[in-house]
Amino acid sequence: MEIIKAQNLVYEYYSQDEVDGADSPFRAIDGVDLSIEKGGFIAILGHNGSGKSTLAKHLNALLTPTSGSLFVKGYDTTKEENIWNVRQVAGMVFQNPDNQIIASIIEEDVAFGPENLGVPTEEIKIRIKESLEAVGMTEYRKHSPNKLSGGQKQRIAIAGVLAMKPECIVLDEPTAMLDPIGRKEVLKTVKRLNKDEGMTVIMITHYMEEVIDADIIFVMNHGKIVMQGTPKEIFSQVDKLKELRLDVPQVTEIAHELKKKNIDIPDGILTIDEFVEAFSKLK
Ligand code: ADP
Ligand code: MG
Repeated sequence: MEIIKAQNLVYEYYSQDEVDGADSPFRAIDGVDLSIEKGGFIAILGHNGSGKSTLAKHLNALLTPTSGSLFVKGYDTTKEENIWNVRQVAGMVFQNPDNQIIASIIEEDVAFGPENLGVPTEEIKIRIKESLEAVGMTEYRKHSPNKLSGGQKQRIAIAGVLAMKPECIVLDEPTAMLDPIGRKEVLKTVKRLNKDEGMTVIMITHYMEEVIDADIIFVMNHGKIVMQGTPKEIFSQVDKLKELRLDVPQVTEIAHELKKKNIDIPDGILTIDEFVEAFSKLK
């Protein structure tokens, strides 16, 4: 079943022109068609300014289309009366964990979302327990968020979203401000939610290593989706990715360079294991 469907989605920002004060629209999303199946792990790549965050904000009706349409589990996000349903389906995690944690005790922070949804107290207690377990932060439930590492804070932000029981979690560069350990923690958490709990994950990231296990990757450029496919399909096109100012995983790059030197190695190598296997088959 489709959980997200965009048809010819366009979004224009209006900013006052500093010189003559006129309204000048800037098209940040330019005719996007998108279909995302429930239960998938979806990655969105694209260099800075390509429209990823603008698209992400549509998935939870923080922004609504200038034209075209966006449906979240069948709810048209342009309809005012659907907004709470849309937000119930799709939860958002942003880049900076410090901006997402509000309470001074972790379990209170996790309770904040369901409290706002009017969930009964007994049910909230259950949700706090389950959400903190899901991100591996149970032992910190009575702590203050202040002393946590970036990765731990981001896991609390994820727990806060989980407590609202969304079907889909949208993460906009959740690891961008984290150190390598924090990045691993968050990625592991997100992958587990997808695999074990069947949660649809839409992950925007700059780190190629984080997308190699995705079911499907969308690549954005100038507000359009310019590539779409499995990690293998996407990373078989190293030159095209470079034109789009994107990196590729290191091992993919090495394999690609060898291939250019006429070494018979397949395209789209994504892991060291695959590389070793391909290399050992060389005659
Ligand atoms: P990304 O997340 O891929 O870096 P964004 O969606 O944040 O891209 O931005 C897409 C484009 O829209 C960029 O050119 C950016 O400058 C512009 N933009 C983003 N937010 C605003 C805003 N509030 N007002 C005007 N332009 C904006
Ligand atoms: Mg962004």
